[in-house]
Amino acid sequence: MPRNPRRWLLLVLLAFSLFPFPLSLVNGAAQQSPAAPKYDLLIRGGHVIDARNKISAIRDVAIAGGKIAAVEAKLNPGDALKTVDATGLYVTPGLIDIHTHNYTGTGERGSYAGDNSVSPDGFTFRVGVTTVADAGCAGWRNFEDFKQRIIDRSKTRILAFINIVGNGMRGAQYENDLNDMEAKPTADMALKYPGLIIGVKTAHYTGPEWAPVERAVEAGTLANIPVMVDFGANKPERPVAELVTKKLRPGDIYTHVYSGLRGELDPSGHVNPGLIEGRKRGVIFDVGHGGGSFLWRIAVPAIKDGFLPDSISTDLHIGSMNTGMKDMLNVMDKFLAMGLSLDDVVAKSTWNPAREIKQDGLGHLSVGAIADVTVVRVEKGRFGLTDMNGARMDSTQRLMCELTVKDGRIVYDLNGISRPEWRTLPAGYGPIGDGRWDGLNPARGTTPGTQRGRGGAPQLRQSGGK
Ligand SMILES: [Zn+2]
Repeated sequence: MPRNPRRWLLLVLLAFSLFPFPLSLVNGAAQQSPAAPKYDLLIRGGHVIDARNKISAIRDVAIAGGKIAAVEAKLNPGDALKTVDATGLYVTPGLIDIHTHNYTGTGERGSYAGDNSVSPDGFTFRVGVTTVADAGCAGWRNFEDFKQRIIDRSKTRILAFINIVGNGMRGAQYENDLNDMEAKPTADMALKYPGLIIGVKTAHYTGPEWAPVERAVEAGTLANIPVMVDFGANKPERPVAELVTKKLRPGDIYTHVYSGLRGELDPSGHVNPGLIEGRKRGVIFDVGHGGGSFLWRIAVPAIKDGFLPDSISTDLHIGSMNTGMKDMLNVMDKFLAMGLSLDDVVAKSTWNPAREIKQDGLGHLSVGAIADVTVVRVEKGRFGLTDMNGARMDSTQRLMCELTVKDGRIVYDLNGISRPEWRTLPAGYGPIGDGRWDGLNPARGTTPGTQRGRGGAPQLRQSGGK
């Protein structure tokens, strides 16, 4: 101890100026020291399936700042704040379900702009889905209500097809009203929210006219986005072959392709030649399983004919969620059961749908891409898969979601593979995750850009509706 108190004070000040690290600790645990690990999260040893980058191999995936930082055969766990062992599991881009119904909460009965829709967060992360596209629940008149009510408040990334009907899917009297199908205001609303409104939907029309399809295509052309068609009632005046060979543009999407409700198979039991011609023109074919749009007796012969879907989607809503359609992984299981490879099924649930809706920043694990990652287990056993009429196909495998990462943070972890065993923790432990990788239980003050800790999950949504 120096004898002179002033000299002692000077020494203390000198020590702090030379070693500022203790001061940064005083300022708060969230502050990163210069020695902070290179990666926030490292998923090690899993079999990566990334269709865009043509990877199907064991890889380590590193994430930093919500983006993919590296995908390599071996990365150093010492470089990561958090490491998860994915040995024996499959690591894919976050799944993208482009046919869901999410405009709930208005209180309207019997309406997809109301009670028929579901809030997505209860159905998505637990099956590896990080992005959904709402398939036309709202039109230009109520889109902004949908946005403020559901889209802006959900953790799932919700994109939307805007309905060509101004009132959206409020029921038959609205959805058959040709006077409320206007291309210009529909396109204007889409152009107001680029990257959020990613397509135009026409659906459920029961009349003989082509007008709903024509106006949807007109709106899609004005806004430079694709059209998705649920072709409604089967009418001889507007056959499906003419729809996909003449009315739709390349890149437009025909959903419910294995419903069999509109002549998808011809009377000989083979795929309608019109659909094959439509595919050659560049029309896209989507599953849209739903409560009433998937039959084994249609899908199996179509797949045998080589007519595979471009994208796999659920058509999730209250009328499908507990029927033959269970969830996204269940629909993927059906295509595995029909003989498609896991690589192919994953491509049709990630990179293909991302491209269809022109969101090529999603659906892959390129360095710099948004870090949405899904870790699944292929479970072996005896399983059954049912179609819309309750017919079963047996299967020996199914996909289970182990871990879901959205924007670089873990938002679902079925078996706690990212978590420490509780007895290894101090007595009286609190929330222990770090907000740089943990979207579930981050310790207070560890999430960058937010002061919220447990119970106040940070808003991970992108601004501007991207
Ligand atoms: Zn639908």
